[in-house]
Amino acid sequence: MAKPISASKMLELLRAEGLTVHEVRNWRTHNRNTKGPWGPLNGVMIHHTVTSGTAASVDICYDGYSGLPGPLCHGVIDKKGEIHLVGNGRANHAGLGDGDVLRAVVNETGLPHDNEADTDGNRHFYGFECINLGNGKDPWPEAQKEAIEKVSAAICRHHGWSERSVIGHKEWQPGKSDPRGFTMDGMRRRIADRLGGKAPKPDPDSKPTPAKPSYVPFPGADFFHVGQKSPIITAMGRRLVAEGCGHYEEGPSPEWSDADRKSYQAWQRRLEFRGKDADGIPGKVSWDKLKVPAS
Ligand SMILES: [Zn+2]
Repeated sequence: MAKPISASKMLELLRAEGLTVHEVRNWRTHNRNTKGPWGPLNGVMIHHTVTSGTAASVDICYDGYSGLPGPLCHGVIDKKGEIHLVGNGRANHAGLGDGDVLRAVVNETGLPHDNEADTDGNRHFYGFECINLGNGKDPWPEAQKEAIEKVSAAICRHHGWSERSVIGHKEWQPGKSDPRGFTMDGMRRRIADRLGGKAPKPDPDSKPTPAKPSYVPFPGADFFHVGQKSPIITAMGRRLVAEGCGHYEEGPSPEWSDADRKSYQAWQRRLEFRGKDADGIPGKVSWDKLKVPAS
């Protein structure tokens, strides 16, 4: 028993599961809530559309047809495994089904055979329509099956449900055959694996690894001579100023100057180089310690 997932939360959960999600028209407020109750929620129901073509199938699921107004589900799962959200709230997908099945879903026990149509399923189930002709020949691409697995797992994980809260329409309502082309037991095993941590859930607290700062490698002592002009020299000068070793009246500038040499000498002395080792011409050890940022 659970409170319905809000539109924004649904979007967030599905995207966090790695799914590509499309928002169709006014799906956030598109529902049948004026016709009957919505919730408490107890499970996820999988269907096939008996249609082909993504755009046409999504339109039918949003609008419905004469005699059965839309939305006909909450999301459409296309052959590429992308999700099209068409409704949020009560939707015309489950119809009347077997109350014994609902009890089994609530308790997450084995499913009894569905032989009664005495219970309003639209109140209790999220519904996903998968684009397939349902003739037993139309293939189910792996991407589409993986999307069924991900959608189901995302919702189950949010509510704290197991894979047993996911059923096919054919397990709910007598006379229904959907989904046809894979077994719901096989799909539930996949969902269980995903929930069991074999497909790690994205960690909301994870931060991107900071990029390593990069420094200018030592260009060699010969690089530093009168007439040399380079942005490296400006960057070096800025670091010397930052270290309190700057002897610049103006600048630093890109052109190697006496001020650079004096400033660098101060840095070498800071590092306890003496005599010829503190002549103001950069050497590798002092250069590496200065950490001149590469632009
Ligand atoms: Zn169905």
